[in-house]
Amino acid sequence: MDRFRLRQNPFAGPAGTDTVGLETSSYMAKLSVRDLDVSGKRVLMRVDYNVPMEEKDGAMVINDTTRIKETLPTLNLLVSKGARVILAAHLGRPDGKREPSMSLAPVAVKLGEMLGKPVAFVDETVGEKAEAAANALKDGEILLLENVRFHAEEEENDPVFAARLARLADVYANDAFGAAHRAHASTSGVARILSAWGSPCAAGLLMERELKFLGDELENPARPFVVILGGAKVSDKIKVIDRLLEKADTVLIGGAMAYTFKLAHGGKTGKSLVEKDHTGTALAAESKAAAKGVKFLLPTDTVIADLKDTGKLNKKGRPVFEFVNPRVNTGDIPDECEGFDIGPETAKTYAEVLASAKTILWNGPMGMFEDKRFAEGTTAVALAVVAATQNNGAKSIIGGGDSVKAVNKAGLGDKVTFASTGGGASLEFLEGVPLPGVTALSDK
Ligand code: AMP
Repeated sequence: MDRFRLRQNPFAGPAGTDTVGLETSSYMAKLSVRDLDVSGKRVLMRVDYNVPMEEKDGAMVINDTTRIKETLPTLNLLVSKGARVILAAHLGRPDGKREPSMSLAPVAVKLGEMLGKPVAFVDETVGEKAEAAANALKDGEILLLENVRFHAEEEENDPVFAARLARLADVYANDAFGAAHRAHASTSGVARILSAWGSPCAAGLLMERELKFLGDELENPARPFVVILGGAKVSDKIKVIDRLLEKADTVLIGGAMAYTFKLAHGGKTGKSLVEKDHTGTALAAESKAAAKGVKFLLPTDTVIADLKDTGKLNKKGRPVFEFVNPRVNTGDIPDECEGFDIGPETAKTYAEVLASAKTILWNGPMGMFEDKRFAEGTTAVALAVVAATQNNGAKSIIGGGDSVKAVNKAGLGDKVTFASTGGGASLEFLEGVPLPGVTALSDK
């Protein structure tokens, strides 16, 4: 059998209850589209086509087709199996209203170009017209429905709307990991209904890969297992830190959250982003690491800058500062300065740790990487992750959101083992939260 055992979530702990009150088990294997005979069947597949668009000469143009590209393997598989594919997706936040600039029509055209075969589009999501379009499909043909969020019932997970979606399909598939943390009609409700009607609900290939790398691969990681955690706030990442302390050999901390740790140790952090209320949380994480024998490394140097008042106000009426005179700092951060990146000594230490890693999980940038003066720490860590992948055979998993953006910005996105397509979904999954879009899928 060449199938992956899709597991729910190795960090989920003992059997629990998901958001819709159903029993979940932590290691439940999920059905994959590869397991299904879909020939001649109508397969309703939820995809993540929430692509960035802008208006050019009166038409909406897609700026980045990555999310569309990510679905091509599943689509090609379904087409080769003779499925009649009906795609459901959301775009933007139309708040339950028909908003022409958020129509998925341009996505159907682009998808057709990328697949090299036409993709039909229907300007309805449910109802007679959508059903007629779905029923008119021949084996191997694809139809894209209009934006599910043109209906307020989508985000309300309204059972009647979910049932109207279910009427379009014989089989359900979900390839939208990035939307799996939302219990919406097209991610959860429709699967619950189709399951109740006896129809299989399967993970698409992209969803399968997400569950494999964020789930199975971290369940019994090859060691040393090094976890890199950065980003803005300790409070956003504490649940992930807590879970990963059960599995990791070493944790490397960076980003603004490192300053909350510094503050907790009595250090001065100047004007750096800190969470005064979370110094206790930071110290508790360090104590847990010590108790578990997990090495827990904090930055030993940092890149700081002076703040120069521009005299301007932002949209919220707050003064806008420029960051000037960036420089490396050790010890206390001067009162008038702010920290924006890990320093070179820290980057070197982290790179040395990463060189012998066999499994790496990275969530959150090491600094304010959007400004290239403060991207060096993040880039150095990205290069070290790639080096460990190439030279040490490490499995490197980039856990979503800004860390993936940072790795892509450094031009290294295709040199890591896996970069998650989920932002909030990856974080929640790593926290051990059962994702409604995953729990709703059929068990093997
Ligand atoms: P998160 O979503 O928590 O992973 O945080 C990512 C954001 O944290 C990015 O937009 C970074 O610019 C920001 N960030 C990371 N380090 C710093 C820092 N030292 N100061 C300000 N922002 C930071």
